[in-house]
Amino acid sequence: MAIVGAGAAGLMAAIASSRAGGRTVLFDRRRKVGAKILMSGGTRCNVTNASVSERDYVTSSGPFVRKVLRQFPPEETREFFERLGVKLKLEPTGKFFPVSDSAGDVLTALLRAVDAERVELRRDITVDGISRRNDGLTVATSEGELYVSSVVLATGGLSYPQTGSDGLGYRIAERLGHSIVRTSAALTPLIASPPIHAGLAGITLDAKLRVVSRSRIVAERFGSLLFTHAGYSGPVVLDISRHWERASWEDPDAQVLASFAAGRSQEDFDAHILAEAARAPRRHVANLLAAIVPQRLAETLMAGSGISAGTMLSGLGRDVRRRLVDSVCALRLPVDRVAGFGKAEVTAGGIPLLEVRARDMSSKIVDGLYFAGEILDVDGYIGGFNFQWAWSTGWVAGTAAAKRAAAFRHPRTPLG
Ligand SMILES: Cc1cc2nc3c(=O)[nH]c(=O)nc-3n(C[C@H](O)[C@H](O)[C@H](O)COP(=O)(O)OP(=O)(O)OC[C@H]3O[C@@H](n4cnc5c(N)ncnc54)[C@H](O)[C@@H]3O)c2cc1C
Repeated sequence: MAIVGAGAAGLMAAIASSRAGGRTVLFDRRRKVGAKILMSGGTRCNVTNASVSERDYVTSSGPFVRKVLRQFPPEETREFFERLGVKLKLEPTGKFFPVSDSAGDVLTALLRAVDAERVELRRDITVDGISRRNDGLTVATSEGELYVSSVVLATGGLSYPQTGSDGLGYRIAERLGHSIVRTSAALTPLIASPPIHAGLAGITLDAKLRVVSRSRIVAERFGSLLFTHAGYSGPVVLDISRHWERASWEDPDAQVLASFAAGRSQEDFDAHILAEAARAPRRHVANLLAAIVPQRLAETLMAGSGISAGTMLSGLGRDVRRRLVDSVCALRLPVDRVAGFGKAEVTAGGIPLLEVRARDMSSKIVDGLYFAGEILDVDGYIGGFNFQWAWSTGWVAGTAAAKRAAAFRHPRTPLG
């Protein structure tokens, strides 16, 4: 059997298929495989999360994702890596990283396992197409053809194309009759043009971000926000980016609103200001804001609300107070566009789940074809969820493809 793509999903599929008895050839167009693993988690590789469920993904089918995760849950991921000699540690955020803080250790362990399982890893070979032949599939590569019983397509999406994933996998699947859910960059910074918050560049703070379109909250995420010279970044921005991008396809006026009020609603924050004004009327507005946001942002919020420095709480009129509450609880972050695939950790869209069986990741359209990883129409939030998707789908697809290969003893199949 053949696996196309030696990223996280393909490496896992290759190990699983060999352990299930398959004779496996793993193709990658790049000499240096697993590039995304190396760059992941700030080169620390956030392997998985303490708690993973379908709610950590944006998907057209929660039950599909749940079913796949159940077959290879995060506990198995952890055990799998520990057995390969990669000790993992849990951070307070729920993220698991290698104890060594080295993504290189994760990749090295996977490549050692690939080697130990006698997977034939063929680097620098591009798979250009797959076609049906008899009961099997012919894989056309830059170095000739291979006839196999089953193929796992694990070519990734469109993010960081310099790592080898440029969307060719989608075209291969399309030529076989699959459709593709429109793709977009996900987990990517947002660009503001003009960058009206550039003066705040470098400030990081916790915020709740909402994407609002046509008076409806499309998405809401909480986490760390970073103001940059070009716009906005940080985990909460990356998480919200795919929602803004897709909302803006339908509604050019879709907005990103930020709340810095530490979980308080606008009414609660308004009541808090009133209570403080009653308790300490001479307290400065700047002092009250400094308790929740960095000073530079406090000054910006005050200026935006028409409040001069030195204003005391007692001096806040009703309208001005309301404007301040709006700024703190629903500050509009103007967005021009997402930073795009060149800076996106993952791709939203891809192979529709409706065209795949959750029990074994097999194609409903092409016998012998399986999918794993980012190529599918599932994208996870920040936190190790995308790798967990790659490990789970890779494991399920690799195991199932090997079983098919074992049952498939065609006289003209040189390779099970
Ligand atoms: C900067 C960055 C940081 C990240 N950090 C994290 C993190 O800490 N935690 C987390 O969970 N996720 C993280 N991610 C996301 C995670 O890396 C991806 O979800 C995951 O790598 C997807 O794995 P994949 O195997 O499906 O695809 P890929 O890793 O993209 O692998 C696809 C492989 O297929 C090969 N290929 C493509 N087409 C062909 C072809 N036609 N023929 C032969 N080979 C082909 C490519 O060369 C590539 O090696 C990060 C991503 C980036 C970019």
